[in-house]
Amino acid sequence: MVLNPALPQKEMALQAAWSRYLAQPCFDNFVEFALLLNSLTDFLIDKSLTGLLHASRQLEQRALSLFGDESSHPISDSAMEELDRGVARVGELLRNFDTAAEPLQERRKKSPEAVVELPASAYQLQLVGTAGSHWHELVSQFGYFGVRVQQGSWEVPALDESGGSLFLADLGGLPQERWLAPLGRLRERHPLAQIICIGVPSEFTALDQALRLGADRCLTVGTPLQQVVGQVLELNGSVERDPYRVLVVEDSRTAARVICRSLEENGIVTQVLHDPSLSLGAIRQFQPDLILMDMYMPCCTGVEAARVIRQYDEFLSIPIVYLSGETDIALQVDALRLGGDHFLTKPFNPVVMNAVVKSKIERYRALRRSMLNDSLTGLLNHISTKQAISAALEFSGQEDRNVVVAMIDIDHFKSVNDNYGHPVGDQVIRSLAWLLRQRLRRGDIVGRYGGEEFVVGLVGVSPAKAREILDTIRQDFARIAFSIPGGDFRVTFSAGLSTCVDCQPRCLEPMLEAADEALYEAKRGGRNQVVLAGSFQSCQLPAPGLEDTRLADARLADVRLEGTPK
Ligand code: GH3
Ligand code: MG
Ligand code: MG
Ligand code: MG
Repeated sequence: MVLNPALPQKEMALQAAWSRYLAQPCFDNFVEFALLLNSLTDFLIDKSLTGLLHASRQLEQRALSLFGDESSHPISDSAMEELDRGVARVGELLRNFDTAAEPLQERRKKSPEAVVELPASAYQLQLVGTAGSHWHELVSQFGYFGVRVQQGSWEVPALDESGGSLFLADLGGLPQERWLAPLGRLRERHPLAQIICIGVPSEFTALDQALRLGADRCLTVGTPLQQVVGQVLELNGSVERDPYRVLVVEDSRTAARVICRSLEENGIVTQVLHDPSLSLGAIRQFQPDLILMDMYMPCCTGVEAARVIRQYDEFLSIPIVYLSGETDIALQVDALRLGGDHFLTKPFNPVVMNAVVKSKIERYRALRRSMLNDSLTGLLNHISTKQAISAALEFSGQEDRNVVVAMIDIDHFKSVNDNYGHPVGDQVIRSLAWLLRQRLRRGDIVGRYGGEEFVVGLVGVSPAKAREILDTIRQDFARIAFSIPGGDFRVTFSAGLSTCVDCQPRCLEPMLEAADEALYEAKRGGRNQVVLAGSFQSCQLPAPGLEDTRLADARLADVRLEGTPK
């Protein structure tokens, strides 16, 4: 059973392109083949299908090394046979791909509702290799994050083959001869799985060998369990990405079509603009991650268009890549100086174009992320959390989806820092961030409000349900053992919840205040507990300035539910 509909399509397209090259071994057909291979490799990276990726990347690298130009084709008979075998192998792997091998985040996307109560089978990990006394602790630590672990030896790894998309292989710090062969066999039997090696001897050759055998990640011997759990969660909790968007400013329709086709082959969304004078409006409306700019156009040059675009602060950081037949170095330098990021000369190699476009976009997005997200946890930062909840409130009225906000604060956190040091304190903060992200649904908002405080917006759940969810998270957080030299310690948190009916963005502040008050109550009540503030029956609050604020405050106080636990 094949799940991802894109895979069989990619397989067929690749086979077809290769057959075309075999029938007519010219440069153009080879470019087409290399392009499809490149798009397949990128797709596999994107979906974390690491086993498949090894085969695809090998073939891609071989193809790119044979790229050359018109005079290099047809390639030699032996090279042709080698590629033919590679295409057959990749094709076979693609055809045999099925649900079992699909990584967690893909499965989660399909059943967003299933995430609150993590079904036992949703996320399964196989712990194999050299068993040790730490395995028991490792299994329970994963359990608190909702991850079920199956244990097995090297040779009998999978009790249930269908769950084996992620292996944690414990090398036990042993010399290579003890694990080389079994690790190699594990990779052979599970070409599509992710394999994380732990207990890897801390030396170059051991790490190199494990990686060569197909380990996706290596953690050396002595890595604290907490960090092992963190790495696994990080690998599998990667946030879903919006597709990249590229605005192609190009007067030639033929050139634009060729460019868009090769970008779209890589899952990049494109929009074409034949007239550069319309670019300001197009950028505002399309919000591109990058602009591909033709150099010569009837009304102005690409450099002139870029100069106009750069007059707007909001467009200053959008990467601009020029496409042109121009080989004059002086002009290229000038183009870059005037606000361009890269120069690609026509006829461009589409594989190189894709790589340039993607790397520029990745850096641009990383820059934006650093502005919107908290660097320690990757969660939304203070401002973007509030913006996100405000947006959720705006939709909640239209879609009849209630929003509950929760203010969470770690208990006695100062003493964690005082007793174990700031870096350990940071690790505790990250763990709570992971746990929240792991347990809440896609549509929920999770932000770090500051220090050891988090704000969560739960969308489409009743206040009682929200409280239940957070209380389960509270209990599991309290069970996490943070390892320090010579032992471990545990930490708790307190939370305050509030909600309102008929929400609007302006209800945000009153809701946060109410949640904060409830949090204060939880602290006063002895900490390590979740308190629900109660809901405002209606948030038909007067707009600021329309009514005496004291009156509004009085109303707010009036409508608090009686059910608030004291
Ligand atoms: P309470 O149960 O009342 O919340 O007690 P508390 O000790 O958690 O409260 P308090 O607000 O006094 O202490 C918060 C501490 O969090 C103080 C500050 O040094 C620490 N802190 C804030 N931000 C960070 C951070 O990013 N990393 C670390 N390690 N500590 C932080
Ligand atoms: Mg032109
Ligand atoms: Mg605090
Ligand atoms: Mg605190």
